[in-house]
Amino acid sequence: MNYKLSPSDLTFLYDGCRRCFWLKVRQGIVQPSIPLPGIFSKIAGLLKTHYSGMRTEKVHSALPPGIVKYGEKWVQSQPISFEDHEHTVYIKGRFDIVVEFDDKTYGVVDFKTGNPDEEKADLYSRQLHAYIYALEHPVPGAIGLSPITKLGLLYFYPNDTSQPSLEKLNYESDVHWVEIQRNDDTFKRFLETALAVLESDTPPALTPGCNWCGYAAKLAREKLI
Ligand code: SF4
Repeated sequence: MNYKLSPSDLTFLYDGCRRCFWLKVRQGIVQPSIPLPGIFSKIAGLLKTHYSGMRTEKVHSALPPGIVKYGEKWVQSQPISFEDHEHTVYIKGRFDIVVEFDDKTYGVVDFKTGNPDEEKADLYSRQLHAYIYALEHPVPGAIGLSPITKLGLLYFYPNDTSQPSLEKLNYESDVHWVEIQRNDDTFKRFLETALAVLESDTPPALTPGCNWCGYAAKLAREKLI
């Protein structure tokens, strides 16, 4: 098997519950969604349009000179194999923006709406490393870019509102940059651990206290499903 890994599933889904991760990747069973994430997709789309083609000097002072070259593009990597593992994984997902610096290197930037949290940087690091792996090792026909020299998170945290007209309300946000250090070895070790989870023929134990599985178990007990 060549298991498909979505970059965003390597963060909270993987750390939150290995069983849910296993069920999604191996069986295509996805946790029920809640309406809130739709708003974040809308915000990400607006930000992509806003920054498209913009010079990095106008995006954030932490970025070297360059231009926002690509927005919301799908990437797909070649299969990734490991010694002592029969199966492989590959990465397929969509990044927020990629910057082309003036020295012809690239940077991958992910938008986050919320309070900047340096503690979550390790978690999001996997997501960004997944994009850069796919960009530097694309399957034929997929977008490929190299070398990628910078990666980070651009946080938007609402701090004020203004109302220019009766029909319009503007949110104003602080913009905060969190740099992610590139570490390919750590990412490959993480992928190997995730592959070991997927290679098990039985799903990992559920997470005690999770309302989703508790709900399903209750329905099953009541013979309602
Ligand atoms: S306990 Fe069940 S629903 Fe909850 S996260 Fe794990 S597998 Fe998913």
